[in-house]
Amino acid sequence: MRILLLAVLAAALAAQQSAKRNPAPEAGDDKRGYTDTPQIPGQTWKVHDAARPRPPRMTPGLPLPSAPPPADAVQLFNGKDLSQWVNVMRGGTAQEPKWRVENGYMEIVPHTGRLVTKEKFGDCQLHVEWMVPVGSEGAGQGRGNSGIELMGRYEIQILESFENVTYADGQAASIYGQWPPRVNVSRPQGEWNAFDIFFEAPVFERGKLEGETPAKPAFVTVLHNGVMVHHRQEILGAAVHRRVAGYKAHGPEEPLSLQDHGRPVRFRNVWIRRLKAYDTR
Ligand code: MG
Repeated sequence: MRILLLAVLAAALAAQQSAKRNPAPEAGDDKRGYTDTPQIPGQTWKVHDAARPRPPRMTPGLPLPSAPPPADAVQLFNGKDLSQWVNVMRGGTAQEPKWRVENGYMEIVPHTGRLVTKEKFGDCQLHVEWMVPVGSEGAGQGRGNSGIELMGRYEIQILESFENVTYADGQAASIYGQWPPRVNVSRPQGEWNAFDIFFEAPVFERGKLEGETPAKPAFVTVLHNGVMVHHRQEILGAAVHRRVAGYKAHGPEEPLSLQDHGRPVRFRNVWIRRLKAYDTR
């Protein structure tokens, strides 16, 4: 009897702690989601749905050592310079990027613009390590926001999601506005996270109009800190805020970009492998 009582007390305490870590959204609190957005096609939920359950928290394994890239990878950031990147201004003018490079990482200098690769990529394997620096403030989408923009448009979200609560389809490792990660394996501020992304580019038929469904949509598999959080998930289109994502035709290869959302986020050990070369195996 006493053991049963203790178990009930422990469960109640755990539920209380869980509720404290992941509080339910309050009405009008758009930091934690929305109630007036459109339905996501094929899903139960609306875009950035405040009521969508947050993925369960899970502690990943020990931090992975930052291994050097495989021999066939394009090293996009080696800890020393931004030679693989440009900053593209509105209107398409390219200029030298202004992100800070120090101590083996690069850090977003807020509002200087996103980083865009000089080379273009389609089907790929991408490795990125990222960290939200200690002392990052803000709430919801305002803390540690950046993102991996595959082909410059399909976003795997970067955010401080260890403590910070936001809508499920906008937290770290989400396919922004579409799919939350299966589990939340975020590490806290000041610790490195790793994404390993396996991406299949969409295929467009020649002459297709804007907004049309591609002949083959994009698919993505994502490991966050070594844990699978998306498995060949179909992407619904380019990332958008408060709207249903859609496709707009583009080339078979496009530059990769890292988002500047006005918050300092650090990156290191960024490399990418092209996969098309192996399609004849
Ligand atoms: Mg973002």
